[in-house]
Amino acid sequence: MNNQPNKQLQVNGGCLCGAVRYRIEGELVDAGYCHCRLCQCSSGAPVLAWLTVQQEALTIVQGKPKAYKSSAHYQRKFCSQCGTQLIFRKTTRPRTVDITIASLDKPAAVVPEYHIWTDSRIPWFDTNDTLCRYADAGPDVD
Ligand SMILES: [Zn+2]
Ligand SMILES: [Zn+2]
Repeated sequence: MNNQPNKQLQVNGGCLCGAVRYRIEGELVDAGYCHCRLCQCSSGAPVLAWLTVQQEALTIVQGKPKAYKSSAHYQRKFCSQCGTQLIFRKTTRPRTVDITIASLDKPAAVVPEYHIWTDSRIPWFDTNDTLCRYADAGPDVD
């Protein structure tokens, strides 16, 4: 699904209040929209856009995000002061980590390439694109 092969990221981001700051240095694995109910409920938004990098590419440079176990093998990390959701990772066999694209200082730097979990897309919300759409987690599940 990666249409931006070998794209090297050197980007910074963080939460709304500034307590948590992170840096990403490494190759972009992929990026996409997730319409799942867990992303919707945990953000209060109709969709979340995520980028994926190798675990080593992400460094938390300031603060300590709080972790919430949102399903059996996954956790979401957010700022405990302002609530911005920043990170999604598998707790078993973690190789990669997902970061919310909108929390980047310059979110235009990473462009979503696909949609997953469109089965739970809210009917009044859609994006005007021709990207691949998957009813479930899609073919590239880690
Ligand atoms: Zn914050
Ligand atoms: Zn999701």
